[in-house]
Amino acid sequence: MGCALSCSSRVALVLLLFSSCFPRLIRAGTGGYPSGSTERSSIFDCLGLAGIQGFRCYGGSQKVSFCQVGRARHSVRADPGAPASERRARSDAPYLTTNPRDVDCWVILVAGLAWNASLCRVKMPHQKAIVARLVSPASISMLLLAMNLSARADFMIAKGGKARCVIVQQPGASLAESNAVHELAETLGKITGASFQIQEAKDSKVPKNAIVVGPGPVARALFPEVALDKLGSEELVMRVKGGRLLLAGGRPRGTVYAVNRFLQDQCGVRWWAPWATSIPRSPSLRVPALDVRSRPAFEYREPFWWAGFDAQWKAHNGANGENHSIPEALGGSIKYKGFAHTFYPLVPPEKHFATHPEWYSLIKGERTHKNAQLCLSNPELRDFVVQRVKESLREAPDAGIISVTQNDWHGACQCPNCKAIDDAEGSPSGSMLAFVNYIAEKIEPEFPHVAVDTFAYQYTRHPPKTIHPRPNVIVRLCSIECNFREPLDHPSNEAFLADLKTWSKMCQRLYVWDYVTDFSNYVLPHPNWFVLGPNIRIFRDYGVRGIFEEGAYAGPGEEMAELRSWVLAQLLWNPQLDDRALTKQFLEGYYGSGAGDIIGRYLELMHDASKGFYLACFLRKDAPHLRFQALAAAERLWQQAEESASLDPDPEKLIRVRIGHLPVWYACLGRWESLRKECREQNATWPWPASRKALAGTFREVCQGVPGRDWTQVRVLNEGGKQVEAFLKGFAEDPPDSDGPTKP
Ligand SMILES: [Zn+2]
Repeated sequence: MGCALSCSSRVALVLLLFSSCFPRLIRAGTGGYPSGSTERSSIFDCLGLAGIQGFRCYGGSQKVSFCQVGRARHSVRADPGAPASERRARSDAPYLTTNPRDVDCWVILVAGLAWNASLCRVKMPHQKAIVARLVSPASISMLLLAMNLSARADFMIAKGGKARCVIVQQPGASLAESNAVHELAETLGKITGASFQIQEAKDSKVPKNAIVVGPGPVARALFPEVALDKLGSEELVMRVKGGRLLLAGGRPRGTVYAVNRFLQDQCGVRWWAPWATSIPRSPSLRVPALDVRSRPAFEYREPFWWAGFDAQWKAHNGANGENHSIPEALGGSIKYKGFAHTFYPLVPPEKHFATHPEWYSLIKGERTHKNAQLCLSNPELRDFVVQRVKESLREAPDAGIISVTQNDWHGACQCPNCKAIDDAEGSPSGSMLAFVNYIAEKIEPEFPHVAVDTFAYQYTRHPPKTIHPRPNVIVRLCSIECNFREPLDHPSNEAFLADLKTWSKMCQRLYVWDYVTDFSNYVLPHPNWFVLGPNIRIFRDYGVRGIFEEGAYAGPGEEMAELRSWVLAQLLWNPQLDDRALTKQFLEGYYGSGAGDIIGRYLELMHDASKGFYLACFLRKDAPHLRFQALAAAERLWQQAEESASLDPDPEKLIRVRIGHLPVWYACLGRWESLRKECREQNATWPWPASRKALAGTFREVCQGVPGRDWTQVRVLNEGGKQVEAFLKGFAEDPPDSDGPTKP
């Protein structure tokens, strides 16, 4: 859409806008006119007619998008024809509760602008068209806004670099709540440049403008309508009333989450990775009249990536998993006793096999502990495990879950008693669940707060016919066999989905162990990015209550690790969020907007190239996205991304992009000769150096990283612990290129 306004007229219009009664509505940014729903287009049309191009649009799905207006993010009306799930998504999203009348605001904004312009005799193109288009909705909206103005008392945090409120700490605050107060003051200070005073207060006599943090006596006195005592352990409240903002939650983590979600969703802070935080700068900061009460969608949330192991990062992003646990000072985390494959730690064969061979699997007529499990129907063994579990729990009084889980191989017991249960139940999960139920029943009187966790994994994945898990049993269903190119409701994942459905009907607490990397090649393109969101939503729809997202956990530099851990953490908090929009947001924030956009195209390219491929989490066969055409296109995109990042004022952006580039080189080095052949056959241009040795040298150099910055030093290339030097050893010399090198 063209804009015929001269530059000075446009400046005049913007000034008029800021001096009008809508001073905070527009912030210059980048952006254009996205295509999309009718209503959205018409709003943007109007803005375009008025000559305003400086707004930022966050493209969401086709149906929804978000605009940055002032500091807050606002939704633009979804297509009325959008499916119910999409509409529900919008009403669940926390920021949507902040301002329900954004569309009205836009309309009024444009109408006000046109009016101001006409008063001041500034010529606008198509003025009549605008007025004609807006007169009716504008007058309705004016009325609505007038009715709404008194209820919409925004909360001013800072103005012109000066604090406009104090932060109130209350007696009885936990260490985590007290730390949250300090982090809030510090971060708001970084955003606004103001200095925020922390004030201890006991009753309702607090300054008129205050942020009250935590569920203490001041919060109860000032916000009696909020049932603070009834909030769940991770539930949070953000509420503006009478010049005060309440950020509080249940214990132990609700208040920490209230502060972190406030800083993220309302103030624009992003904790991308432990070494990468974005804090926007704005001397004036105001938030809308919040009235939010929310809680995370899942009770257990663990994006298990090296990039997500930092306790502070986990607390900021709402992860609460067992591994690399979070100290009480940051709100703590869920505690397991044991975590996986605990049969032999509970009943070590080196101690017990000699005296009790009958406690171990009977396989081909022999009792064995090699590649075996336990004889789950043996009554003496069952009681022994009960005692072992009790001992373990006495050593770990804060554990809420104990793992009683099969070894990481097959080898179920085939003795007549075990086999009879499994035959009757149609699955070896029969004897497993009978065993785990027995343990759970026996420990319940002494440990009523503890759940016994077991796996539905490989040979036990298929659920039993009649045995149901007790209420204090958690079944963790494992997706290891699935096709991760497609969501779990795709026909290629039919068998898994059927098991998920059945387990979800039987379990009161169903957890999932999901696999989100390529374990045989941590540093290789693995195009599962676009199933992360759909799969988490499927888990949520089937009532799953906890998710362990097993990624690449051995060290830095794993393919798109920061992206996945951050996006997963956001989705585990709220699966309704638009995963594509989150991905875009991350790429722009972490790699820089230019490079981020190009890397986004790389993700699309790999995703498209892998169409029809069964993308396992242990890559074993030739993959279409690793053939010449796709890899060469990917290489060119990464070269462009490097070029773009080299212009970024922050030199870390280039380091991040170069690490991101490694997977394409890894694929090229490993498949050099077949790629050369394909390139020759296609008479194409070779985008890498003509010397494999030279490329290996670049790979090594990037892996060596920057001294003192651990996250830049890539060492491990797969779950088996393969080291970079072991991989590069094979490329010390260039191979003979029989048909001669392809010309660049
Ligand atoms: Zn047996």
